[in-house]
Amino acid sequence: MLPRLGEQIILEGMNTYDVLIVGGGAAGLSAALVLSRARRTVVVVDSGAPRNAPAAHMHGYLSRDGMPPSDLLKTGRAEVTGYGGTIIAGRVDELVRDDGGGFTAVLGDGDQIHARRVLVTTGLRDELPDVPGLRDRWANDVLHCPYCHGWEVRDRAAGVI
Ligand SMILES: Cc1cc2nc3c(=O)[nH]c(=O)nc-3n(C[C@H](O)[C@H](O)[C@H](O)COP(=O)(O)OP(=O)(O)OC[C@H]3O[C@@H](n4cnc5c(N)ncnc54)[C@H](O)[C@@H]3O)c2cc1C
Repeated sequence: MLPRLGEQIILEGMNTYDVLIVGGGAAGLSAALVLSRARRTVVVVDSGAPRNAPAAHMHGYLSRDGMPPSDLLKTGRAEVTGYGGTIIAGRVDELVRDDGGGFTAVLGDGDQIHARRVLVTTGLRDELPDVPGLRDRWANDVLHCPYCHGWEVRDRAAGVI
């Protein structure tokens, strides 16, 4: 029997939710907040490697300018759990469509999660050019976005790769 909307049940030892969100960066947590407030049972599985992790501060986000990206996520996680959302540190390795509708996610540690719907918010991964030393300087003085970090290097000589 399928659970009612908003009802989290244990089905044969497997956690069942309305929505599984794969990836708990800004996008996934925003969705989790809205869905939790809409009284859906929500689980976010996040492997903890957001795209902007190398950056010490984020900019251009009104009311959060200069905040460390990790603080934004910490605040977001607290907001989501405050509305009953569940956040799991882990990696979704496999998603299988169930016969009765919905999906089963298999996590890296073998745990399984069942959900009616799945939202994939796994972000982007930057593929850096193979230039010696570039990776060490990434997000520091090798920058990809003038709107995010141009101010921090203003009036300095710049090279473009
Ligand atoms: C160096 C740098 C600096 C930046 N600075 C700024 C800035 O100053 N201002 C600004 O507005 N934007 C900035 N950005 C852009 C910003 O980082 C992205 O817009 C934002 O992170 C996108 O959020 P997201 O949730 O889509 O993805 P992400 O933040 O990348 O989050 C995706 C999450 O999904 C997880 N994940 C991936 N695969 C799986 C899986 N299979 N199972 C479970 N979890 C998984 C990852 O671990 C990660 O935590 C910057 C980007 C970079 C690279």
